[in-house]
Amino acid sequence: MVAIRQIKARKTPVVQIGNVFMGGHTPVMVQSMTNTDTADAESTAQQVVTLAKAGSEIVRITVNNDDAAKAVPKIRERVMQIMGVDVPLVGCFHYNGHRLLQDHTGCAENLAKYRINPGNVGFGKKRDPQFESMVQCAIKHNKPVRIGVNWGSLDQGVLARLMDDNASRAEPYPADYIMREALIVSTIESAKAAEDIGLAHDRIVLSTKVSRVQDLVAVYTELDKRCNYALHLGLTEAGPGSRGIVASTAALAILLQEGIGDTIRCSLTPAPGAPREQEVIVCQQILQSMGIRSFTPQVSACPGCGRTTSTFFQEMAEQIQSYIAEQMPIWKEVYTGVESMNVAVMGCIVNGPGESKHSDIGISLPGTGEEPVAPVFIDGIKTHTLRGQDIVPQFKAILLNYVERRYGKKAA
Ligand code: SF4
Repeated sequence: MVAIRQIKARKTPVVQIGNVFMGGHTPVMVQSMTNTDTADAESTAQQVVTLAKAGSEIVRITVNNDDAAKAVPKIRERVMQIMGVDVPLVGCFHYNGHRLLQDHTGCAENLAKYRINPGNVGFGKKRDPQFESMVQCAIKHNKPVRIGVNWGSLDQGVLARLMDDNASRAEPYPADYIMREALIVSTIESAKAAEDIGLAHDRIVLSTKVSRVQDLVAVYTELDKRCNYALHLGLTEAGPGSRGIVASTAALAILLQEGIGDTIRCSLTPAPGAPREQEVIVCQQILQSMGIRSFTPQVSACPGCGRTTSTFFQEMAEQIQSYIAEQMPIWKEVYTGVESMNVAVMGCIVNGPGESKHSDIGISLPGTGEEPVAPVFIDGIKTHTLRGQDIVPQFKAILLNYVERRYGKKAA
Protein backbone atom coordinates (compact mmCIF):
# COMPACT_ATOMS: atom_id res chain seq x y z
CA MET A 1 0.00 0.00 0.00
CA VAL A 2 1.28 3.46 -0.85
CA ALA A 3 0.57 5.89 1.97
CA ILE A 4 0.65 9.67 1.76
CA ARG A 5 3.33 11.20 3.97
CA GLN A 6 1.49 13.11 6.66
CA ILE A 7 2.30 16.72 7.42
CA LYS A 8 3.71 16.83 10.94
CA ALA A 9 1.80 18.61 13.71
CA ARG A 10 3.12 21.98 14.81
CA LYS A 11 4.35 22.30 18.39
CA THR A 12 4.41 26.06 18.91
CA PRO A 13 2.36 28.12 21.37
CA VAL A 14 -0.72 30.02 20.19
CA VAL A 15 -0.02 33.74 19.81
CA GLN A 16 -2.84 36.28 19.69
CA ILE A 17 -2.31 39.08 17.18
CA GLY A 18 -5.16 41.56 17.34
CA ASN A 19 -8.27 39.54 16.74
CA VAL A 20 -6.53 36.53 15.14
CA PHE A 21 -4.50 33.63 16.47
CA MET A 22 -1.45 31.89 15.06
CA GLY A 23 0.64 28.95 16.16
CA GLY A 24 -0.17 25.63 17.76
CA HIS A 25 -3.31 24.02 16.34
CA THR A 26 -4.48 27.13 14.45
CA PRO A 27 -4.41 27.24 10.62
CA VAL A 28 -1.15 28.39 9.03
CA MET A 29 -1.80 32.09 8.43
CA VAL A 30 -1.20 34.09 5.27
CA GLN A 31 0.32 37.52 5.57
CA SER A 32 1.65 40.22 3.31
CA MET A 33 3.15 43.69 3.35
CA THR A 34 2.20 46.99 1.77
CA ASN A 35 4.55 48.96 -0.47
CA THR A 36 2.84 52.34 -0.18
CA ASP A 37 4.25 55.29 1.72
CA THR A 38 2.73 54.66 5.15
CA ALA A 39 2.50 58.42 5.74
CA ASP A 40 -0.08 58.41 2.94
CA ALA A 41 -2.82 56.95 5.12
CA GLU A 42 -5.48 56.72 2.41
CA SER A 43 -3.29 54.86 -0.12
CA THR A 44 -1.96 52.55 2.56
CA ALA A 45 -5.43 51.80 3.91
CA GLN A 46 -6.64 51.03 0.37
CA GLN A 47 -3.76 48.62 -0.17
CA VAL A 48 -4.31 46.97 3.20
CA VAL A 49 -7.94 46.42 2.18
CA THR A 50 -6.89 45.02 -1.21
CA LEU A 51 -4.48 42.59 0.44
CA ALA A 52 -6.98 41.62 3.13
CA LYS A 53 -9.75 41.04 0.61
CA ALA A 54 -7.38 38.80 -1.34
CA GLY A 55 -6.93 36.76 1.83
CA SER A 56 -4.09 38.30 3.81
CA GLU A 57 -4.99 37.67 7.43
CA ILE A 58 -2.32 40.01 8.79
CA VAL A 59 -0.83 42.98 6.93
CA ARG A 60 2.54 44.53 7.73
CA ILE A 61 3.25 48.18 7.10
CA THR A 62 6.56 49.94 7.40
CA VAL A 63 6.78 52.56 10.16
CA ASN A 64 9.90 54.48 9.29
CA ASN A 65 9.34 58.06 10.45
CA ASP A 66 7.09 60.36 12.48
CA ASP A 67 4.62 60.90 9.65
CA ALA A 68 4.26 57.16 9.16
CA ALA A 69 3.77 56.63 12.91
CA LYS A 70 1.13 59.38 13.01
CA ALA A 71 -0.72 57.76 10.09
CA VAL A 72 -1.12 54.36 11.79
CA PRO A 73 -4.34 55.18 13.75
CA LYS A 74 -5.87 56.74 10.62
CA ILE A 75 -4.99 53.69 8.52
CA ARG A 76 -6.58 51.33 11.01
CA GLU A 77 -9.71 53.47 11.26
CA ARG A 78 -10.02 53.78 7.47
CA VAL A 79 -9.59 50.03 6.99
CA MET A 80 -12.36 49.47 9.52
CA GLN A 81 -14.58 51.94 7.66
CA ILE A 82 -14.07 50.23 4.31
CA MET A 83 -14.05 46.59 5.38
CA GLY A 84 -15.97 46.60 8.62
CA VAL A 85 -13.37 44.29 10.11
CA ASP A 86 -10.24 44.98 12.08
CA VAL A 87 -7.35 43.66 9.97
CA PRO A 88 -4.33 43.20 12.26
CA LEU A 89 -1.61 45.65 11.26
CA VAL A 90 2.00 44.85 12.03
CA GLY A 91 4.47 47.71 12.31
CA CYS A 92 7.88 47.09 10.75
CA PHE A 93 10.56 49.07 12.58
CA HIS A 94 14.22 49.64 11.82
CA TYR A 95 16.74 51.96 13.54
CA ASN A 96 14.25 54.33 15.20
CA GLY A 97 11.44 52.05 16.38
CA HIS A 98 12.18 52.71 20.06
CA ARG A 99 11.64 56.44 19.59
CA LEU A 100 8.62 56.17 17.27
CA LEU A 101 6.82 53.81 19.66
CA GLN A 102 7.59 56.07 22.62
CA ASP A 103 6.65 59.30 20.88
CA HIS A 104 3.49 58.06 19.16
CA THR A 105 1.17 56.31 21.56
CA GLY A 106 -1.52 56.10 18.86
CA CYS A 107 0.88 54.10 16.71
CA ALA A 108 1.87 51.79 19.58
CA GLU A 109 -1.77 51.17 20.49
CA ASN A 110 -3.17 50.66 17.00
CA LEU A 111 -0.61 48.18 15.77
CA ALA A 112 -1.43 44.55 16.51
CA LYS A 113 2.21 43.47 16.56
CA TYR A 114 5.66 45.04 16.37
CA ARG A 115 8.35 43.64 14.12
CA ILE A 116 11.79 44.14 15.67
CA ASN A 117 14.91 43.44 13.64
CA PRO A 118 17.71 42.83 16.17
CA GLY A 119 20.31 43.78 13.56
CA ASN A 120 18.73 47.20 13.06
CA VAL A 121 17.71 48.21 16.58
CA GLY A 122 20.73 50.38 17.24
CA PHE A 123 24.49 50.31 17.26
CA GLY A 124 27.07 49.87 19.99
CA LYS A 125 25.93 50.72 23.50
CA LYS A 126 22.58 51.98 22.23
CA ARG A 127 21.51 48.59 20.96
CA ASP A 128 20.42 46.89 24.18
CA PRO A 129 18.55 49.84 25.74
CA GLN A 130 16.75 50.54 22.46
CA PHE A 131 15.78 46.90 22.13
CA GLU A 132 14.55 46.93 25.73
CA SER A 133 12.57 50.10 25.10
CA MET A 134 10.69 48.45 22.22
CA VAL A 135 9.99 45.31 24.22
CA GLN A 136 8.82 47.39 27.21
CA CYS A 137 6.47 49.21 24.88
CA ALA A 138 5.07 45.87 23.68
CA ILE A 139 4.54 44.78 27.29
CA LYS A 140 2.91 48.09 28.21
CA HIS A 141 0.47 47.93 25.28
CA ASN A 142 0.01 44.16 25.50
CA LYS A 143 1.32 43.51 21.98
CA PRO A 144 3.23 40.53 20.61
CA VAL A 145 6.47 41.08 18.75
CA ARG A 146 8.16 39.36 15.87
CA ILE A 147 11.88 39.05 16.29
CA GLY A 148 12.62 39.28 12.59
CA VAL A 149 16.21 38.51 11.71
CA ASN A 150 17.29 38.94 8.10
CA TRP A 151 20.65 38.01 6.72
CA GLY A 152 20.85 41.33 4.92
CA SER A 153 20.89 43.06 8.29
CA LEU A 154 22.39 40.44 10.58
CA ASP A 155 23.53 41.62 14.01
CA GLN A 156 27.24 42.22 13.36
CA GLY A 157 28.10 41.76 17.04
CA VAL A 158 26.80 38.18 17.03
CA LEU A 159 28.50 37.44 13.72
CA ALA A 160 31.86 38.82 14.92
CA ARG A 161 31.65 36.79 18.14
CA LEU A 162 30.97 33.53 16.30
CA MET A 163 33.65 34.30 13.71
CA ASP A 164 36.18 34.81 16.52
CA ASP A 165 35.15 31.55 18.19
CA ASN A 166 35.42 29.76 14.87
CA ALA A 167 38.85 31.19 14.14
CA SER A 168 40.15 29.65 17.37
CA ARG A 169 38.96 26.16 16.38
CA ALA A 170 41.56 23.65 15.20
CA GLU A 171 39.36 22.99 12.16
CA PRO A 172 37.21 26.07 11.54
CA TYR A 173 33.76 25.68 9.98
CA PRO A 174 33.09 27.21 6.54
CA ALA A 175 32.01 30.85 6.54
CA ASP A 176 28.46 30.11 5.31
CA TYR A 177 27.98 27.67 8.22
CA ILE A 178 28.93 30.45 10.64
CA MET A 179 26.58 32.85 8.86
CA ARG A 180 23.64 30.46 9.33
CA GLU A 181 24.63 29.83 12.93
CA ALA A 182 24.82 33.59 13.58
CA LEU A 183 21.30 34.02 12.21
CA ILE A 184 19.93 31.34 14.52
CA VAL A 185 21.87 32.56 17.56
CA SER A 186 20.83 36.18 16.98
CA THR A 187 17.17 35.14 16.68
CA ILE A 188 17.06 32.94 19.78
CA GLU A 189 19.23 35.21 21.95
CA SER A 190 16.98 38.17 21.08
CA ALA A 191 13.86 36.18 21.93
CA LYS A 192 15.38 35.13 25.26
CA ALA A 193 16.37 38.73 25.95
CA ALA A 194 12.78 39.83 25.30
CA GLU A 195 11.56 37.17 27.75
CA ASP A 196 14.13 38.32 30.33
CA ILE A 197 12.74 41.85 29.98
CA GLY A 198 9.30 40.43 30.75
CA LEU A 199 7.58 39.61 27.45
CA ALA A 200 5.67 36.34 27.67
CA HIS A 201 6.83 33.36 25.63
CA ASP A 202 3.51 33.26 23.80
CA ARG A 203 3.85 36.91 22.77
CA ILE A 204 6.89 36.19 20.60
CA VAL A 205 7.06 35.13 16.95
CA LEU A 206 10.39 34.45 15.26
CA SER A 207 11.59 34.73 11.71
CA THR A 208 15.07 34.18 10.30
CA LYS A 209 14.91 35.04 6.65
CA VAL A 210 17.46 34.32 3.97
CA SER A 211 17.18 34.42 0.20
CA ARG A 212 18.43 30.96 -0.79
CA VAL A 213 16.20 27.91 -0.53
CA GLN A 214 18.68 25.50 1.02
CA ASP A 215 19.81 28.09 3.57
CA LEU A 216 16.22 28.77 4.58
CA VAL A 217 15.47 25.08 5.01
CA ALA A 218 18.64 24.54 7.04
CA VAL A 219 18.11 27.56 9.28
CA TYR A 220 14.45 26.91 10.09
CA THR A 221 15.00 23.19 10.59
CA GLU A 222 17.62 24.04 13.20
CA LEU A 223 15.51 26.81 14.71
CA ASP A 224 12.66 24.37 15.12
CA LYS A 225 14.96 21.95 16.97
CA ARG A 226 16.33 24.59 19.35
CA CYS A 227 13.17 26.42 20.42
CA ASN A 228 9.39 26.33 20.30
CA TYR A 229 8.44 29.93 19.53
CA ALA A 230 5.80 30.53 16.84
CA LEU A 231 7.55 30.81 13.47
CA HIS A 232 6.97 33.13 10.54
CA LEU A 233 8.30 31.63 7.29
CA GLY A 234 9.41 33.46 4.22
CA LEU A 235 12.16 33.46 1.66
CA THR A 236 13.35 37.03 1.71
CA GLU A 237 14.00 38.88 -1.54
CA ALA A 238 12.50 35.94 -3.44
CA GLY A 239 12.53 38.00 -6.61
CA PRO A 240 10.28 38.69 -9.58
CA GLY A 241 8.15 36.42 -11.74
CA SER A 242 8.28 32.67 -11.78
CA ARG A 243 11.68 32.64 -10.05
CA GLY A 244 10.23 34.20 -6.92
CA ILE A 245 7.16 31.99 -6.91
CA VAL A 246 9.07 28.76 -7.49
CA ALA A 247 11.82 29.53 -4.98
CA SER A 248 9.31 30.52 -2.29
CA THR A 249 7.20 27.45 -2.94
CA ALA A 250 10.17 25.09 -2.87
CA ALA A 251 11.43 26.47 0.44
CA LEU A 252 8.11 26.81 2.24
CA ALA A 253 6.75 23.45 1.09
CA ILE A 254 9.70 21.53 2.53
CA LEU A 255 9.33 23.24 5.90
CA LEU A 256 5.53 23.11 6.07
CA GLN A 257 5.65 19.38 5.33
CA GLU A 258 7.77 19.01 8.48
CA GLY A 259 5.23 20.95 10.55
CA ILE A 260 7.49 24.02 10.64
CA GLY A 261 5.84 27.41 10.18
CA ASP A 262 2.81 29.11 11.71
CA THR A 263 2.47 31.93 9.20
CA ILE A 264 3.89 32.48 5.74
CA ARG A 265 4.70 35.33 3.43
CA CYS A 266 6.01 35.27 -0.15
CA SER A 267 8.29 38.26 -0.68
CA LEU A 268 7.71 38.52 -4.41
CA THR A 269 8.84 41.49 -6.43
CA PRO A 270 5.79 42.54 -8.42
CA ALA A 271 6.27 43.79 -11.96
CA PRO A 272 5.60 47.54 -12.21
CA GLY A 273 1.84 48.01 -12.09
CA ALA A 274 1.19 44.36 -11.25
CA PRO A 275 -1.23 43.65 -8.40
CA ARG A 276 0.40 43.57 -4.98
CA GLU A 277 -1.95 40.82 -3.86
CA GLN A 278 -0.21 38.23 -6.02
CA GLU A 279 1.95 37.35 -3.01
CA VAL A 280 -1.22 36.51 -1.08
CA ILE A 281 -2.55 34.27 -3.86
CA VAL A 282 0.76 32.41 -4.05
CA CYS A 283 0.72 31.78 -0.29
CA GLN A 284 -2.82 30.45 -0.54
CA GLN A 285 -1.90 28.24 -3.48
CA ILE A 286 1.04 26.78 -1.59
CA LEU A 287 -1.17 25.90 1.38
CA GLN A 288 -4.01 24.58 -0.76
CA SER A 289 -1.77 22.57 -3.10
CA MET A 290 -0.30 20.87 -0.04
CA GLY A 291 -3.72 20.10 1.42
CA ILE A 292 -3.08 22.30 4.47
CA ARG A 293 -5.88 24.83 3.92
CA SER A 294 -8.56 25.48 1.31
CA PHE A 295 -9.28 28.96 -0.03
CA THR A 296 -10.91 28.57 -3.44
CA PRO A 297 -12.05 25.73 -5.73
CA GLN A 298 -9.21 24.23 -7.71
CA VAL A 299 -9.43 23.85 -11.47
CA SER A 300 -7.37 20.95 -12.80
CA ALA A 301 -6.56 21.15 -16.48
CA CYS A 302 -4.23 19.14 -18.63
CA PRO A 303 -1.41 20.99 -20.40
CA GLY A 304 -2.81 20.23 -23.83
CA CYS A 305 -0.79 18.54 -26.58
CA GLY A 306 -0.97 17.57 -30.23
CA ARG A 307 -4.40 16.05 -29.63
CA THR A 308 -5.86 19.52 -28.94
CA THR A 309 -5.83 21.34 -32.25
CA SER A 310 -7.56 24.56 -31.22
CA THR A 311 -7.27 26.98 -28.34
CA PHE A 312 -10.84 26.25 -27.27
CA PHE A 313 -9.71 23.96 -24.48
CA GLN A 314 -7.32 26.52 -22.95
CA GLU A 315 -9.94 29.25 -23.32
CA MET A 316 -12.53 27.13 -21.57
CA ALA A 317 -10.21 26.31 -18.67
CA GLU A 318 -9.49 30.03 -18.33
CA GLN A 319 -13.16 30.95 -18.50
CA ILE A 320 -14.16 28.43 -15.85
CA GLN A 321 -11.33 29.62 -13.60
CA SER A 322 -12.49 33.25 -14.05
CA TYR A 323 -16.11 32.30 -13.49
CA ILE A 324 -15.23 30.66 -10.18
CA ALA A 325 -13.10 33.64 -9.12
CA GLU A 326 -16.02 36.00 -9.90
CA GLN A 327 -18.50 33.86 -8.01
CA MET A 328 -16.37 33.13 -4.95
CA PRO A 329 -17.08 36.35 -3.01
CA ILE A 330 -20.75 35.28 -3.01
CA TRP A 331 -20.26 31.52 -2.93
CA LYS A 332 -18.02 31.53 0.13
CA GLU A 333 -20.68 33.40 2.10
CA VAL A 334 -23.48 31.07 1.05
CA TYR A 335 -22.00 27.68 0.24
CA THR A 336 -20.03 26.24 3.14
CA GLY A 337 -17.06 24.15 2.03
CA VAL A 338 -17.18 25.21 -1.63
CA GLU A 339 -13.54 26.31 -1.37
CA SER A 340 -12.47 22.66 -1.28
CA MET A 341 -14.27 21.74 -4.55
CA ASN A 342 -12.18 20.29 -7.39
CA VAL A 343 -13.12 20.99 -11.01
CA ALA A 344 -11.48 19.36 -14.04
CA VAL A 345 -11.35 20.79 -17.55
CA MET A 346 -9.58 18.27 -19.76
CA GLY A 347 -8.51 18.29 -23.39
CA CYS A 348 -9.30 14.82 -24.76
CA ILE A 349 -10.38 11.26 -24.13
CA VAL A 350 -6.90 10.03 -23.09
CA ASN A 351 -6.97 11.38 -19.53
CA GLY A 352 -10.11 13.48 -19.66
CA PRO A 353 -12.76 11.06 -18.38
CA GLY A 354 -10.43 9.59 -15.73
CA GLU A 355 -9.35 12.95 -14.32
CA SER A 356 -12.93 14.24 -14.47
CA LYS A 357 -14.14 11.23 -12.49
CA HIS A 358 -11.56 11.94 -9.78
CA SER A 359 -12.79 15.53 -9.45
CA ASP A 360 -16.03 16.68 -7.87
CA ILE A 361 -17.14 17.87 -11.29
CA GLY A 362 -15.28 17.65 -14.58
CA ILE A 363 -15.63 17.94 -18.32
CA SER A 364 -13.67 16.13 -20.99
CA LEU A 365 -13.51 18.02 -24.27
CA PRO A 366 -13.13 16.27 -27.62
CA GLY A 367 -9.61 16.01 -28.98
CA THR A 368 -8.55 15.76 -32.60
CA GLY A 369 -10.55 13.15 -34.50
CA GLU A 370 -12.87 12.45 -31.59
CA GLU A 371 -16.63 12.71 -31.74
CA PRO A 372 -17.48 16.40 -31.01
CA VAL A 373 -19.13 15.77 -27.66
CA ALA A 374 -18.03 16.64 -24.13
CA PRO A 375 -19.06 14.29 -21.32
CA VAL A 376 -19.53 15.82 -17.88
CA PHE A 377 -18.85 13.83 -14.73
CA ILE A 378 -20.28 14.65 -11.31
CA ASP A 379 -19.04 12.82 -8.24
CA GLY A 380 -17.47 10.22 -10.51
CA ILE A 381 -20.56 9.51 -12.62
CA LYS A 382 -21.21 10.65 -16.19
CA THR A 383 -24.29 12.86 -15.98
CA HIS A 384 -24.39 14.97 -19.15
CA THR A 385 -23.07 14.97 -22.70
CA LEU A 386 -22.59 18.49 -24.03
CA ARG A 387 -22.31 19.40 -27.69
CA GLY A 388 -22.59 22.47 -29.89
CA GLN A 389 -21.17 25.98 -29.68
CA ASP A 390 -22.27 26.86 -26.15
CA ILE A 391 -20.50 24.20 -24.13
CA VAL A 392 -19.00 26.82 -21.78
CA PRO A 393 -22.32 28.38 -20.64
CA GLN A 394 -23.85 24.91 -20.40
CA PHE A 395 -21.03 23.73 -18.17
CA LYS A 396 -21.21 26.88 -16.02
CA ALA A 397 -24.92 26.24 -15.44
CA ILE A 398 -24.24 22.63 -14.46
CA LEU A 399 -21.42 23.79 -12.17
CA LEU A 400 -23.64 26.36 -10.44
CA ASN A 401 -26.37 23.79 -9.98
CA TYR A 402 -23.83 21.40 -8.45
CA VAL A 403 -22.54 24.06 -6.05
CA GLU A 404 -26.08 24.93 -4.92
CA ARG A 405 -27.02 21.30 -4.47
CA ARG A 406 -23.84 20.12 -2.75
CA TYR A 407 -22.84 23.13 -0.66
CA GLY A 408 -26.15 24.91 -0.13
CA LYS A 409 -27.77 24.95 3.29
CA LYS A 410 -30.32 22.30 2.33
CA ALA A 411 -27.45 19.94 1.55
CA ALA A 412 -26.20 20.05 5.13
S1 SF4 B 1 -5.71 14.83 -21.74
FE1 SF4 B 1 -5.51 14.65 -23.99
S2 SF4 B 1 -5.20 16.75 -24.70
FE2 SF4 B 1 -4.76 16.76 -22.50
S3 SF4 B 1 -2.55 16.44 -22.42
FE3 SF4 B 1 -3.53 14.44 -22.18
S4 SF4 B 1 -3.56 13.59 -24.25
FE4 SF4 B 1 -3.18 15.81 -24.46
